[in-house]
Amino acid sequence: MKYLDEYRDAEGAHKFAREIARITTRPWTIMEVCGGQTHAIVKFGIDQLLPREVTLIHGPGCPVCVTPVELIDQALELAARPEVIFCSFGDMLRVPGSKTDLLAVKASGGDVRIVYSPLDAVNTAVKNPGKEVVFFGVGFETTAPATAMAVYQAAHKGVKNFSLLSSHVLVPPALEALLNAPDRRVQGFLAAGHVCTIMGYEEYLPIAAKHRVPIVVTGFEPLDILQGILMCLQQLESGRAEVENQYTRAVRKEGNLPARQLIGEVFRVVPRQWRGLGEIPLSGLGLSESYQAFDAQRKFGVAQVRVPESAECLSGLVLQGKLNPRECPAFGSRCTPEHPLGATMVSSEGACAAYYRYRREPAEPAGIQTHH
Ligand code: SF4
Repeated sequence: MKYLDEYRDAEGAHKFAREIARITTRPWTIMEVCGGQTHAIVKFGIDQLLPREVTLIHGPGCPVCVTPVELIDQALELAARPEVIFCSFGDMLRVPGSKTDLLAVKASGGDVRIVYSPLDAVNTAVKNPGKEVVFFGVGFETTAPATAMAVYQAAHKGVKNFSLLSSHVLVPPALEALLNAPDRRVQGFLAAGHVCTIMGYEEYLPIAAKHRVPIVVTGFEPLDILQGILMCLQQLESGRAEVENQYTRAVRKEGNLPARQLIGEVFRVVPRQWRGLGEIPLSGLGLSESYQAFDAQRKFGVAQVRVPESAECLSGLVLQGKLNPRECPAFGSRCTPEHPLGATMVSSEGACAAYYRYRREPAEPAGIQTHH
């Protein structure tokens, strides 16, 4: 547990907090775009260690949460088909579509299975030649290589009864969309370390330069996040707008080249609808020409029907950093993890789930001290 202790050390945290307080001279708003960071911030009360001038807002950092209702409805339609075995990560099962969720489809006889890796879905297809196996690929760049590998393997093993419903999304275009918003609040970003372990951070350089915004690639542990915030504030206070890497122990500028190559082989970049942000050009991964036979939308002809977002759930605003989950009137009353009205309450990376778990009552955060 060396790493955990090392990166959660209370004295280290207070040192960063003191330095942050020392250099901060005016109000700043920083956004993290990573559900893991959101949960760490809320769990350990990192925001409460900061001076009043520094506001942290949570962005669209949870891939399950940004998956639009129409794609979930397509998943539900496919999962209900008698010939289909529908494979998904567990997080998606209770995410509400416009009428129901995957768990309900399973309860009424749909063959919905939780898998831990996309390759499990390919193996399921091999073992069930009389069935069609559809994998619901949901994730940022972090999980895209594993999905790409599954499609690649299916192609090279001749597994024809496997297909992919892709909801893979790309983070940098979402940052651009947030920066282009007329009511933009964010002045600096913490970029998700796990995404950058795959993609590197070259893509962020033009964004930082064009929008004059500091972007700090940051890890997930409390000390990582505090250091990322400090680095971001140092830039803001000195008028710099650069891309910096706090998470040097895991991230290289060019990322993981073999993984990027695999993504480039299997996928192509497509426009994608994001919950809360609308359609963002070049922000999703669809299958490339050579792998079209594995495209579940094409194979089953599922319709692209635009479905309005729920009027009751305000997760679109939460995902844009415009609303804190506790400000949602349904939070903790009509909307709980047992009866979620939106994905942000049910996904393990969702901001509403983080506040429900750690800040339902205005209670003390979990605390950073983990010395045992
Ligand atoms: S608390 Fe529930 S209803 Fe409100 S934004 Fe979050 S998920 Fe939606």
